[in-house]
Amino acid sequence: MSESYVIIGDGIAGSSAAEAIREEAPDADVTVVTDEGEALYNRILIKEFAKGKLPEAPISIHETDWYDERDIDLRLNTLVTDVNPDAHTVETHEGDEISYDKLLVAAGGTPNQLPVENSDAEGVHHFWTFQDARQIREHAEDADTGVVVGAGLLGIDLAAICGGQDVDAKYLMRGDRWWRYALSSDGAEIIHDGLREMGIEPVFESGADHFETNDDGEVVATVDGNGDRHESEFVGVAIGLDFNVEILQDTDATIDNGVHVDEYMRTDVEDVYAAGDITQYWDTIMDERAQNGSWGSAKQQGALAGRTMLADEGHDVDIEPFRWVSSYSITHFDFPFLSFGFPTMGDESCERKYSDTEWRRLTFKDGKLIGGVLIGNLAPQSKYKQLIKDEAVVADQQDVLLQENFEIDELALAQEQ
Ligand SMILES: Cc1cc2nc3c(=O)[nH]c(=O)nc-3n(C[C@H](O)[C@H](O)[C@H](O)COP(=O)(O)OP(=O)(O)OC[C@H]3O[C@@H](n4cnc5c(N)ncnc54)[C@H](O)[C@@H]3O)c2cc1C
Repeated sequence: MSESYVIIGDGIAGSSAAEAIREEAPDADVTVVTDEGEALYNRILIKEFAKGKLPEAPISIHETDWYDERDIDLRLNTLVTDVNPDAHTVETHEGDEISYDKLLVAAGGTPNQLPVENSDAEGVHHFWTFQDARQIREHAEDADTGVVVGAGLLGIDLAAICGGQDVDAKYLMRGDRWWRYALSSDGAEIIHDGLREMGIEPVFESGADHFETNDDGEVVATVDGNGDRHESEFVGVAIGLDFNVEILQDTDATIDNGVHVDEYMRTDVEDVYAAGDITQYWDTIMDERAQNGSWGSAKQQGALAGRTMLADEGHDVDIEPFRWVSSYSITHFDFPFLSFGFPTMGDESCERKYSDTEWRRLTFKDGKLIGGVLIGNLAPQSKYKQLIKDEAVVADQQDVLLQENFEIDELALAQEQ
C-alpha cells in the first residue's frame, strides 16, 4: 500500500505542504481537506477585491485542475471534526473516516466575535475568507455609514475598504492610537492622517459597547463605551483570531493559543504535524516559542512541514530548522508601510521621524534587533532582517541603525571602534 499524507486546510500552509510532498513522493496518496468551497486563493488580496479594486479572477491561486494534474485528492466543503491519533484517522462532518500515515493540521484561525449585544446582527462583518470578502464588498457598495472596530493589521483593511467604497466610516480604537503595541504617537499619527485622507475618522479611547438593530435584525448603529452613538449600516470587526485547535483537543498535542510544534513543525503527537498561523513554533532566532500571522511565514512552514513528514516517513530529503523573519505590508496609503520580525515585543526600542510621512521604529531584546516598523521608506528592510537573522548585538548603535540611508558596513565599522 502507498503512503498516505492527509492535510487539513487548503490555505497557503496546507497547499505548500501538498506541493512539497508531491514533488518528492510521486506515488504517495495526498489528500487535502478544506471546509471552504474553493481551492487556494490569495488571502492577502481579498481586501483589494472587497475595496472594489480587483476582480475575482486574479485572486485565485489554484483551480481544481491544479490538484487533478498532481493527483492530489482535494475535498472541498469538508470539515474535519475529529483527529484520532491511535487509529491514525480523521473524521469529517459527514461521518467519513480518512486514514493517514502522516497528518498535517494547517487549519489557521477564525475571527473572534465581540462579546457584546447584537454582535451577530446582519451587517456586522468579520473578515477571513474570500466568501467574507464577497459579502463585505456587496454590503459596502450599498452602505452610506460604517464603523470599524479593531486597531490592528486587519482592522485597517476594513477601514480602507470603507474608504475605497465611499462609506462614511468611523474607526473606533480602544487606546489613543492605531496599533499601539507597535507604534508610538508619532508613527501612528501618519496612519491617522492617511485614514482621514481616505475619509475615515479615527475615534480614540472608544470601542463598541453594543450594536443597535432595526426590526429586520440589521445593524443600524454602534454605541461606544462612552455612550456615543455612531450611525453604522456597515460594521467591520477585527479583534483577533481563535485558532482552530478543537480537533486536537483530545490528543496529546500541547495546545496554548495555537499548537506547539518544534522547529521542524512536529507536534507532540506522533505522525501529526502543524504549520501556518495555527502554530506556536520554536523560533530558532529568538530561542523561544513564537507565533506568526503572515503569508510568507505560513508558506515556509507548510513547505517545511511537508518535507519533515517525508523525511520522517523515510524519504531522503534535507530538512533545515525553521528560521524566518516575517514581514507584513500595508498598501492602502500613498506612503508604504511594513512591519517585520516581532515589533510588539522586546525590552528596548528606538525610533525616528524623518518627515510627515516617514518614520521608523526598531525593537530589541537582549541587545539584539528583533523587529520594527517602517513607514514611508522601506529601503532598509532587508538589512534589518539580515541583522535579525544574524542575531547581531546592535542595540548600542541605534544612531547608526536609524540613519536614513543606513548600511550594514557602517555598523560593522562602528562595532570595530
Ligand atoms: C484580509 C486579510 C488580509 C491579510 N493581509 C496580509 C498581508 O498583507 N500580509 C501577510 O503576510 N499576511 C496577511 N494576512 C494573513 C495571511 O493571510 C495568513 O497569515 C495566512 O493566510 C495563513 O495561512 P494558513 O494556511 O496558516 O491559514 P489559513 O489561510 O487560515 O487557512 C486555513 C484553512 O483551513 C480551513 N480549516 C480550518 N479548520 C478546518 C477543519 N476543521 N476542516 C477543514 N478545513 C479547515 C480554513 O477554512 C482555511 O481555509 C491577511 C489575512 C486576511 C484575512
